[in-house]
Amino acid sequence: MAVDKNKPTYQIKVLDIGDVGGLDGSFWVNKWCPGTKIVIACYAYLITGESIPPIIVDTGIKEDQLDIMERLGMTGSQRPDQKLSYQLGKYGLDFKDIKVILHTHLHVDHAGNDYLFPNAKIIFPRKELMFAVADLMDAQYPPEYITYLVEQIHVPGRVRLIDDALELFPGIDLEPVEGHTWGSMNIKVNTKKGLAVMCGDVIYDERLQCHKNEFFPEIAKHAEQPAFPYGDRSTGNYWNLWAAKAGVQKVMAEADIVLPTHDRLVEEKYGYEIG
Ligand SMILES: [Zn+2]
Ligand SMILES: [Zn+2]
Repeated sequence: MAVDKNKPTYQIKVLDIGDVGGLDGSFWVNKWCPGTKIVIACYAYLITGESIPPIIVDTGIKEDQLDIMERLGMTGSQRPDQKLSYQLGKYGLDFKDIKVILHTHLHVDHAGNDYLFPNAKIIFPRKELMFAVADLMDAQYPPEYITYLVEQIHVPGRVRLIDDALELFPGIDLEPVEGHTWGSMNIKVNTKKGLAVMCGDVIYDERLQCHKNEFFPEIAKHAEQPAFPYGDRSTGNYWNLWAAKAGVQKVMAEADIVLPTHDRLVEEKYGYEIG
């Protein structure tokens, strides 16, 4: 894919909104370094453009309850400059300016601060809410978040649950993708640098899951063949391994710019401003 010249292009800002610690290596990438605890980034993304209201993708761990991560045996931390208010302020924005929240999914580190955005319509796949209440991924769906969202469904205009792919604005496409969770969603954005795909936790670590590396010989073998330039190892955190691998393949096949939620490769490759 490349830039679509018939559609508007948009800018994406990488919002660095916290760190998650105590994560097991084998949770990060399937069968990678069990017993090794790592610290990972936590990003949200801001989409801006001349013809659209500011859009935020995911809202992170609940800021006044970072210890919610301890339910998973992990830690959540946030420096003052990682607070959402600071990160939005860098671009002259306040919570009230954000008109749309998109969720890649509703896990504990993605959907904790929706209540801070009074004017935002919250959009995500209906299947994700169904999955979130089904007790299939334990504490990854905190009741604090999910009961809030269920209440918001009854506020007219506040929540839009989608059942299929949707072009939200020309050049901004929402696409439900199973794998990491049943109702995950990719957000595909036309930028001057090509198609950017915000893929949530479908990919945790692009290098380990998709590129030649010393851990997974099958990926190294793929990488030697130009026709199969990427591997498709799943993260270690999925509800359906087959769908999780399919999700990795899809992102890598479509995206010029891969934007996962926790992969520091994003900062290394693009800095904080894309397009
Ligand atoms: Zn997740
Ligand atoms: Zn996550």
